[in-house]
Amino acid sequence: MKAKLRGHHLICLNFFRGEGYSDDFVRNIYEVLKKEKVEILAGPDEICLECPYLKDGKCANNEYSDDLILAQDREALRLLDFMPGMIVDWKMIAERLPDILDEWKAQFCSGCKYKKICFKT
Ligand code: SF4
Repeated sequence: MKAKLRGHHLICLNFFRGEGYSDDFVRNIYEVLKKEKVEILAGPDEICLECPYLKDGKCANNEYSDDLILAQDREALRLLDFMPGMIVDWKMIAERLPDILDEWKAQFCSGCKYKKICFKT
């Protein structure tokens, strides 16, 4: 089975600790993480489909704008050296994380409410 995920979720899901917007949202993430292969999307993905903030195909989270989320996706793919349409797996992602995580954290994690969960700071 193949998951379909947007760029920033390829990074953020490595730090998933069971927290989320609702029980259904969290359950869905566990199902997605069971899938071995990942097809990279350029926009809303399997995680977004269960998210209460997805409205008309856009992220309507009140902490971020859709433009910011799309910019995060592009930056995640740049750092990982992936492109939309590629099929990857979690091992490929995990191997690249150590080299890119400092830059990712500096750009995006400081203002994120999940930072304390992801990095236990
Ligand atoms: S907050 Fe936005 S990017 Fe995150 S899962 Fe929900 S719709 Fe997708």
